[in-house]
Amino acid sequence: MLRTALITALLALTSGWAAARPNIIVIFSDDHATTAISSYGSNLINTPAIDRLAQGGMRFNNAFVGNAVCGPSRATLLTGVHSHVHGHMVNEWGGAFNGTQQTFPKLLQAAGYQTALFGKWHLYSDPTGFDDWAVIDNVGEQGTYYNASFRSPNGVEQTEGYTTDEITDKALRWLTNKREGDKPFLLMVQHKAPHRDWLPSIEEMQNWDEAATVAEPATLFSAHAKKGTARSQNKMRIDDHMTRLDVKLSVPSYLTEAQKKVFEETYGPGNQAFENAQLKGDDLTRWKYQRYIKSYLASVEGMDRSIGRLLDAVDAAGLTDDTIILYTSDQGFYLGENGWFDKRWMYDISTRVPLLMQWPGHIKPGSINDALVQNIDLAPTLLDAANVTPDQPMHGQSILPLTQGVAADWRQAIYYHYYEHPGFHNVPRHYGVRTDRWKLIHYYRIGEWELFDLQADPNEQISLHGQPGYEQITRQLEQELAAQRTLYMVDPAAEPEAPWYTAPMVWAFEQLLKVL
Ligand code: CA
Repeated sequence: MLRTALITALLALTSGWAAARPNIIVIFSDDHATTAISSYGSNLINTPAIDRLAQGGMRFNNAFVGNAVCGPSRATLLTGVHSHVHGHMVNEWGGAFNGTQQTFPKLLQAAGYQTALFGKWHLYSDPTGFDDWAVIDNVGEQGTYYNASFRSPNGVEQTEGYTTDEITDKALRWLTNKREGDKPFLLMVQHKAPHRDWLPSIEEMQNWDEAATVAEPATLFSAHAKKGTARSQNKMRIDDHMTRLDVKLSVPSYLTEAQKKVFEETYGPGNQAFENAQLKGDDLTRWKYQRYIKSYLASVEGMDRSIGRLLDAVDAAGLTDDTIILYTSDQGFYLGENGWFDKRWMYDISTRVPLLMQWPGHIKPGSINDALVQNIDLAPTLLDAANVTPDQPMHGQSILPLTQGVAADWRQAIYYHYYEHPGFHNVPRHYGVRTDRWKLIHYYRIGEWELFDLQADPNEQISLHGQPGYEQITRQLEQELAAQRTLYMVDPAAEPEAPWYTAPMVWAFEQLLKVL
């Protein structure tokens, strides 16, 4: 840490970081996998607006979260520490985020930044550290793709229209009307998209092509995905756990009559053909996959267009040169790989997130970095850029030295810990360690281990744990895992226990949705 701090201080002197504090815009999405971003090499979609940030700044290829579920990841973005320290270890039964603790927006605000937050928050307590904020309030703060309500210090506001665009509009109105020119600002723009239930904008629905097909992932029907206790029990399979709302056989009740009409025109003919076809087995899975992936991608396209509007407005206001713009998401997401949707697992598809950082004059345009970075690093990074030192230590480290190619002592392994079991999608509790080549996972309540060689098996299909020839690497990784747990002071006694109503609540929810 000390060495990194010294290097950063030297860089600050030589590059003028200390002289002017940059504005900071964090664009944060929900469940956006790198596999659905063209600058990350996606063959599924074009994301020209997000790609502008890759072209204008640095693309991190190995950015991961430490707990791949929404609330915990959001709390880590704010605090720079893993779940067991910020205390928001699970989504559904963990209570509200404790907003009295140290967060980077609070520190920036105290250092003279004007701070604002708009969009999905999903931490239940009111945001702290923001001069202005409005957060999605309806459906347990998950929000709806259309006509969401927003909570702010002024009360609850019901909006009408596409929520992605409403979030961008709120941010743009703030930039135009509320920003004080003499202060640097932090603006967080947090989208609901592309979280379930993947409903496109009116424009994307009008461009819907029922006959178009998206390439299937190689592992859509992987037999490996059903092997082992942990994998076989999960409930995120496209074949068995998608709902009629997910695949657009049901009209969301939150739409207006005019929006319902567009929905019916978009999906109605395909739905009729589907009902007539009486698909079974793999054909039914394929149909669900197409409905799912096309709706997911369309909701990304709508978000990308909305991000483009924001970037254009920042350009037009002459702010781009003085502003860090960061794009990331709260987890990755399964887009049909292993036959799954959702996240939670320590597997790369679930834990890898997009991380793009543009800072003109400081970060070389179009640069790429492969270091192992994590969401614990974002708060330290933004504080570093603003020349603010946190009061309490954070787990993460500033990635600014990485952007300058001078972080020789960067970490070689990252820690992961998922707690939300019992819970939706039935993924067991697990922790593990990942290096550039290897991953060791321990499902500690069912006594199961997995070991993957990410070089030979990047899709993490076949666990090598217990296989002859892997004893030495397993021992090394066990030691690394123990070292990581010591480094972050993971306390087994602090495991959150689910309240009694969790299991029946999850069961009831599954029954309610299981109609397809
Ligand atoms: Ca999420």
